[in-house]
Amino acid sequence: MTELASGLNQLIFPDYCLICDIPEGDGNKFSHGLCGMCHDAVTNDPLPACPWCAATVGPHADTGNGCLACKGKSFAFDAAIRLGSYDRQLREVILRMKAANGESVAEQMGRILCARLCSKLSKLALTTVVPVPLHWQRRFARGHNQAAGIGRELATGLGIPFASSGLRRLRNTPQQGQPTASARQENVKGAFGVSRRARFVGETVLLVDDVMTTGSTASEAARVIKKAGARSVFVAVLARR
Ligand SMILES: [Zn+2]
Ligand SMILES: [Zn+2]
Repeated sequence: MTELASGLNQLIFPDYCLICDIPEGDGNKFSHGLCGMCHDAVTNDPLPACPWCAATVGPHADTGNGCLACKGKSFAFDAAIRLGSYDRQLREVILRMKAANGESVAEQMGRILCARLCSKLSKLALTTVVPVPLHWQRRFARGHNQAAGIGRELATGLGIPFASSGLRRLRNTPQQGQPTASARQENVKGAFGVSRRARFVGETVLLVDDVMTTGSTASEAARVIKKAGARSVFVAVLARR
């Protein structure tokens, strides 16, 4: 497209920020489909996070053996990393990812996550990326799995295979609305299985989801992947509650 044609195209079909809907142009510098303000908000996590479970911690917290959220808990994953906390713009974009047309939003967020964290993730010598699956009924209703959109982009950025259906959701577990961590743990027990063609023996897996709340879902998925022979399982999420 010539510059003029592309300019005209912009006038007729301007791009809108995926989070706040302001149109591109008028000096709004867009990046990865987000206006400058929203991009800054989702990529600058102002709060320190626990290096093990990615929960927000106090500025001077000693997290060497975990934080208040994970100390004494035996998560099956080795460590979790996040883009930010489940708040404001990040919360808004995650809600938008769950809409019927949210797949491209999820992919865009996967690219943002990679731009921010892939250099750190590449030090883990990861060998495969697996999304936390939705039960097929929920996936059918939504039309896509947002975790898969994010994970696909991470795998591309890391240059490693993406096992889109490495895990299967065996039960359509109710949304995680349980009040306590142990009730949540009970809720996800036996929720996942490894698909017949997936090979996890000796792998270092990156498990991807949009949100982590108590960590029980990620932990149960990691447990199943390790049972299938994976050496380690790390978790990457957009947001930690
Ligand atoms: Zn915006
Ligand atoms: Zn922690």
